[in-house]
Amino acid sequence: MTARASIGVIGGSGFYSFLDDVTELTVETPYGAPSDSLFLGRIGEREVAFLPRHGRGHHLPPHRINYRANLWALRSVGVRQVLAPCAVGGLQPQYGPGTLVVPDQLVDRTKGRVQTYFDGETRADGVRPNVAHVTFADPYCPQGRAASLAAARGAEWEAVDGGTLCVIEGPRFSTRAESRWHAAQGWSVVGMTGHPEAVLARELELCYSALALVTDLDAGAENGEGVSHAEVLEVFAKNVDRLRDVLFDAVARLPQEQGTCLCTTALDGQETGLQLP
Ligand SMILES: [Zn+2]
Repeated sequence: MTARASIGVIGGSGFYSFLDDVTELTVETPYGAPSDSLFLGRIGEREVAFLPRHGRGHHLPPHRINYRANLWALRSVGVRQVLAPCAVGGLQPQYGPGTLVVPDQLVDRTKGRVQTYFDGETRADGVRPNVAHVTFADPYCPQGRAASLAAARGAEWEAVDGGTLCVIEGPRFSTRAESRWHAAQGWSVVGMTGHPEAVLARELELCYSALALVTDLDAGAENGEGVSHAEVLEVFAKNVDRLRDVLFDAVARLPQEQGTCLCTTALDGQETGLQLP
């Protein structure tokens, strides 16, 4: 397939639906179907592929998303840099609703999600990748993070530079005890989709960074009855316009090409047996 976009955005339908001109492209992958079609469009000079993480209509819960197919599909149309907005809960009282966090660390508390392309299993097309291990000490692309932070600053939305995104299995929210424990570790925010998305991007040598919008204080950081889905949706709706503006500006600020960041050499020196698309 010829390159159709160099930048990918994995987010909700609010993002692509504001572009004037999108082309819908159905992509199949060796891992099955992604969450939805890719929506190809332009932001300024940059060609962008949007993918609604939960599918249009939001029918896929976090644990049912085919993360491998999503990242593979993006790479197969030419994407090399990915921006990934997500809704999260604040684990610290200072990260209330409306806070934007650009994390630099991640803790995986998911269970049983497929989180590698290198699982030694033979794919449906007969390809059998080798076992490989990627470095993941710094899970996010420094260039993507810098672009996101600069874009937020440009919109006078002072984003939190760094912090830890804790990813839980869901779909339920945390108990108060779990939430207090997460907070006591010093972690910043909690979400349900940031993993394995980040590590699969790394395995495909994609640049990947997350923009975490706090929609609520998590159960341990507030005194009310705990998180409700309605509350999350309401805060997200209030902030979606400015998050979209920040994303669009961040896209424009990304380097034209993948740089020399650690993301691009994740598989160096390893015989993976896998031809990246
Ligand atoms: Zn990178």
